[in-house]
Order: sequence, then structure tokens, then C-alpha cells
Amino acid sequence: MNEATTLRDNVDAAEVAKFNALAARWWDPEGDFHTLHEINPLRLGWIRQQAELDGRNVIDIGCGGGILAESMAAAGATVTGIDMAEGPLTVARLHQIESGIEVQYREATAEELAAEQPGQFDVVTCLEMLEHVPAPVEVIRSCAQLVKPGGHVIFSTINRNPKSFLFAIVGAEYVLKLLPAGTHEYQKFIRPSELDAWGRDAGLQLAASIGMLYNPLTKDFSLRPVLDVNYLMHFRRPDGE
Ligand code: SAH
Repeated sequence: MNEATTLRDNVDAAEVAKFNALAARWWDPEGDFHTLHEINPLRLGWIRQQAELDGRNVIDIGCGGGILAESMAAAGATVTGIDMAEGPLTVARLHQIESGIEVQYREATAEELAAEQPGQFDVVTCLEMLEHVPAPVEVIRSCAQLVKPGGHVIFSTINRNPKSFLFAIVGAEYVLKLLPAGTHEYQKFIRPSELDAWGRDAGLQLAASIGMLYNPLTKDFSLRPVLDVNYLMHFRRPDGE
């Protein structure tokens, strides 16, 4: 097996096919990805509290159609967005023509970019992606390689416990229809303790974390210090390495 093949091993073809099939409606605020549109201002706001984006070199891993990537570019960052699904990348490239917001999109894995451009990024974001790959620990390691010493790495994912099964799968996919049915598999959810440990093993230090809560009555998301369903974590690579 050559190196290029190995660096593309950590991809679940069925997951990529799922995102390809839904790509056309990525930017429809009422379409399959409406929840990503609704949470984006919240998560962008939190990221900006953690790390300066203006004038910084940022990479967004698993960028999909580019909702977060464009918003970070609009905040002044130079953004590279990578994904392994061709459909969402095509939509992302078309959307930036409409929006006039520049992002460099590429079909690549985190592992490939880490081999190519280690230590090049002030901020690495990887949101709602770890729970779709065979070995999230490898992606975390690659993110730790991509970030500069002193830089920032932000992940978001979903906790694994009975409440998250009820809220993130039964509630979100089948009752409230916040996400298409079949978006998530419970076994792939990640406990905050696991993400923290994997980050530490990769040489990162946990700096902050926050939960993202949905209120079905007001149909609003909010940030709360409760990590039992959706959550974000901010890590830093220590300086002087
Ligand atoms: N991060 C974006 C999109 C999340 S959807 C956001 O939060 O708005 C998850 C994305 O991860 C999809 O676009 C999917 O194609 C991508 N993905 C899944 N496995 C991947 C892999 N191994 N490498 C890169 N991207 C991957």
C-alpha cells in the first residue's frame, strides 16, 4: 500500500455517500442541514471567544458545504476547507461565488494535510465530523500536527450516554426532525472524557468546553456548561514545541 492510500484509510465510504446524497440542499436554511445553519452563529461566537480569527490561518476539517468555513472567512480568517465528499465540496465552491467570500476548498483527509502542512495553522476546527470517521483518534492526532505551537484546535461532537441517545437520535432525527433520519450512529458518539484523553495523548491541552442545548418549546439552541448531548471543546498546543 502506498502512502497516499494509507493517508486516505480513515474514511467511511458509507458516511461520505450519505453526505454526497444530501449535498444539493446544504445551503437551504429549511433543508436537511437547517440545524447547522441555526447553530452556526452560536458556535462561531464561541470559537471567536476562544481564538482570534481575524488575519489568522485557519483549516476546517470536514467542512461539508462550508457553512462554518465561510463564516470564519467573513470574520477575517484565511480559510482552507477540506472534506472527503465531492458533492458538498462542489456546493461549497459554487456558494462562495454567490457570497463572494473566499475559502480554499480541497478534497483531502486531515491525515493528508498533516503530512503536507504540519504546524501551519493558527486555528484548526473540526466540527460535527469526528463521529463520522472510523478512527477519530487519528483525526485528532492530525489536527494536533496541523496546528502551530501555541495555536488552537476546536472540536464538536455528541456525547455517548442514554440521554444523548434519546435527544440526539430519537428526538432530533425522528421526533423533531432536526436532522435526517440515519445521520448518526450511537456507537460513534464520543464522551468528553474520551475526547480530552485523545487530545492529551496527541499533545494538546484542554482549554475550555461548552454544551449546545436545544429547547424544543422555543425551538432555540443555546450554549450551556452541560456536556451531556452536543458539545464543543477547545484545545491548545503548548507553546515552544
Ligand atoms: N463541519 C461541517 C459539516 C459537518 S457534516 C459543519 O459542522 O458545518 C460532516 C462532514 O464530514 C461531511 O461533509 C462529511 O463528508 C465529512 N467527512 C466525513 N468523513 C470524513 C473524512 N474522513 N475526512 C474528511 N471529511 C469527512
